[in-house]
Amino acid sequence: MATVMSQLLPEVDTFLEGSLQRPLVGGKEVEAADGHTFETHDPGSGDVLATVPHLSAKEVDAAVSAARQAFEKSGWATLPPNERGAMLHRLADEVERRLNIIAQIEALDAGKLEAHAQGDVANFVATLRYFAEVAQHVSRRNTLAVKGHEAWTMRHPWGPCGFIFPWNFPFLLIGWGIAPALAAGNTVVIKPAEDTPLSAIYLSHLAQEVGLPDGVINVVTGLGETTGAAVSQHAGLRRMSFTGSPEVGRLVGEACGRNLVPVKLELGGKGAAVVFDDVDIADTAAKLVGAITFHTGQVCCDATRWLVHRRIYDQFVNECVKQIKQVQVGYQMEGSTQMGPVVNEKQRQRVLRYLASGVKEGARMIVEGGAAEVPGKAGHYVKPALMEGSLENVAAREEIFGPVAFLAKFESEDQALAMVNSTDYGLANSVWSSDLGRCARIAEQMRAGNSWINAHNVFPHGVPYGGIGKSGLVGGVNSVETLFDYWRSVSVVRPL
Ligand code: NAD
Repeated sequence: MATVMSQLLPEVDTFLEGSLQRPLVGGKEVEAADGHTFETHDPGSGDVLATVPHLSAKEVDAAVSAARQAFEKSGWATLPPNERGAMLHRLADEVERRLNIIAQIEALDAGKLEAHAQGDVANFVATLRYFAEVAQHVSRRNTLAVKGHEAWTMRHPWGPCGFIFPWNFPFLLIGWGIAPALAAGNTVVIKPAEDTPLSAIYLSHLAQEVGLPDGVINVVTGLGETTGAAVSQHAGLRRMSFTGSPEVGRLVGEACGRNLVPVKLELGGKGAAVVFDDVDIADTAAKLVGAITFHTGQVCCDATRWLVHRRIYDQFVNECVKQIKQVQVGYQMEGSTQMGPVVNEKQRQRVLRYLASGVKEGARMIVEGGAAEVPGKAGHYVKPALMEGSLENVAAREEIFGPVAFLAKFESEDQALAMVNSTDYGLANSVWSSDLGRCARIAEQMRAGNSWINAHNVFPHGVPYGGIGKSGLVGGVNSVETLFDYWRSVSVVRPL
């Protein structure tokens, strides 16, 4: 297949030409008072894409003040839901109109295939529209039948809400996070990951262009231990949401606990796929190989433990080997590439380290994986890998966050279920069989927030998505319930 390098759109060139990419806080471009900056790189080439302000606790404080000011004074919080919905639809329209521009910025910054980045931006649009609509159709006033009293509850937006995001789905996750908060009438302070700040910066400017009041969307760029910590520790935020690793999630949870700020944590995963002996082997292998190589395995809810019925194990493994060896690793902006780089060198070393320590603990490599080279590109590339062995192995227990699947055999339904549930994580698993009754039975018993049947990584709006245990706390995203998380409730009672 001919290799077609995607041409950068003129708007993307113009965006990247600015010497310093400044986000908006309270409607004004912000820089660090101490002049500190950091660089963001193209993971596929190693080239510097842009320089970005490294904001301190002082600028975070200004962002929280701007969000509070907008909440109290701009009228955003008290707009009738249909008028706020119309403004969010306007933002969705403009993001949709610039879908290809934002997707290219995202693909360059996060090392994503351009088509995948386009899907992420389209998902952001759909999320914003979903919550803009739903918020107009749920009642915020609920009358209660109470003996001897008139009573009701009323829901109000909380105020300024903080959001800290990771680098794997930067723009899509911003949508999942802020759409319900904004639709409910809150204002937001967004801290994007230091590896991928550009789409959030772009969004802050777009929000102003479409006429959202200044301070409704504020973006603070910087490193985790400084800017991120300042956001998580700010007592002026009324709600916090963190998406990222369990290690940092604990720190954010502790900081919010001290301030008594309610916090939602969306953390890592170590999902399983249970494959029974009545599946279409080639089709199931293709879907699971597709899942583990999608965005180079940097997907929190990925199927990284493949539990396969003993009767088809060898045949299934052979099919997976055949398919995984055909995956074309390359630069993310080249048309023939099927799997791009991982986000940075630290992540590449993490993947390589897990392969080595898995083998040291006795795992067998079915497909070796390891470092990959892409001619002419000094990016962070790895090959996809398949391992097998005991689920006690470190590579089967811990989240690798790369294109690595660990395989093991099972004999019975009960054994499969016990293997799925033998982890502290609880984000997402799948079960594969032509017996849909069996699938439903197992899906309901897997100990995690999400179970999929004959599919992996599906997120229709309206279905809550979130984790339990080491994978998360308090609810999840993407459904009507999320909207209610962004309203506080006041009970009103009058004796009759
Ligand atoms: P990370 O925890 O290292 O960083 C996430 C964010 O936290 C970044 O913005 C970072 O700057 C910030 N941060 C770092 N240290 C901080 C601190 N001390 N205080 C406050 N903020 C701090 O995670 P990552 O490497 O960016 O992302 C990968 C992880 O995210 C994986 O574990 C993955 O499974 C998880 N993830 C979960 C979901 C989900 O929906 N459950 C979605 C995507 C990613």
